[in-house]
Amino acid sequence: MSGLTISGVTKKFGHVTAVEDVNLAFKDGEMVCFLGPSGCGKTTLLRMIAGLEEPTSGSITMGGRDMTRVPVHQREIGMVFQSFALFPHLTVGENITYSMRIRGHSRSEREDRARELLDMMHLPEMADRRISQLSGGQRQRVAIARALALNPQVFLLDEPMSALDANLREAMQIELRKLQQELGITTVVVTHDQTEAMTMADTIVVMGKARVLQSGSPMDIYKKPVDRFVADFIGTSNLLPARMTGDATAEVNGTALGIGTNAHGFAKGDEVVLMTRPEEVFVRPASAERPANAVTGRVTFVRDIGATIEILCDCDGHEVISVLTPKDWPEVEIGQDVHIEMPKDACSVLAP
Ligand code: ATP
Repeated sequence: MSGLTISGVTKKFGHVTAVEDVNLAFKDGEMVCFLGPSGCGKTTLLRMIAGLEEPTSGSITMGGRDMTRVPVHQREIGMVFQSFALFPHLTVGENITYSMRIRGHSRSEREDRARELLDMMHLPEMADRRISQLSGGQRQRVAIARALALNPQVFLLDEPMSALDANLREAMQIELRKLQQELGITTVVVTHDQTEAMTMADTIVVMGKARVLQSGSPMDIYKKPVDRFVADFIGTSNLLPARMTGDATAEVNGTALGIGTNAHGFAKGDEVVLMTRPEEVFVRPASAERPANAVTGRVTFVRDIGATIEILCDCDGHEVISVLTPKDWPEVEIGQDVHIEMPKDACSVLAP
């Protein structure tokens, strides 16, 4: 049975449609990231799952039960807000077990649970501290512990990393993912950070302008984005204007190229965008033999960052990036004419 389903959900605020006809189904224990630019409706969708907003139309089920009109306190959800929203006048332990107190759990039960959660969050001995005495990372752990206190069925987090500095953010992404896997709890995270989504998610839901544009595993979305917007949003992509010349061939700037994926749905003569990922593109000096499936260009910048080398090329007014490991270094320099090899299987086409 599906852990969480969202069926035909639309949310309007007056004339603004924040979420439009969203249909999604997630398995029990799945880690999902809603990813998209500011204002695309991610938070509104999350708040409807939480019960903090009511859909204008459509339904939401959890564990097979219709939750659409069930009030927030009757849903078994735990939520972490962007600001963490901890109570400053309560201790760490009191914050964590606040919901247990409301539901009448005894003091000893609450203390045991607080201890257990603080151990799990690597914050032992902190139960009596004030929130003001904690670092940003510690506050986040307390907010997570508080959300998990009642063993929720679904765990929701709205931009949980945004208040943390970059180093801590990366470490917490891994830690949160490990915790989620350990607990096996269906989890939805809202983020606008693609690396965060790629690090943590089983399923990424890419949103744009109130709608779901694509949903799938991180690798699926990276390898087969449905359109330019998604391709640009997930990872770095090289996009070149092209025209289809056959079922699986296209012409870029007068050069014929074979297309490995995504070519279906386009017909000969269609204007398209040829997409490649930088790590699948290779650069060779123009003096070397021309590789198969290559266009020509000129090197505009070389960036050596140790583990990888980035070569930026100009290809008839469009930038193409090649990211190589040092062992594939083609010994090219800025201003040099080059072959830019884009192997057939690395080439896909998208609507312009
Ligand atoms: P961000 O990353 O900036 O938080 P988001 O993708 O989470 O953006 P939402 O906060 O869900 O986007 O907002 C989606 C749209 O709905 C926006 O146009 C926003 O202005 C509008 N909106 C959200 N909440 C309300 C509200 N309570 N009243 C009116 N409009 C709202």
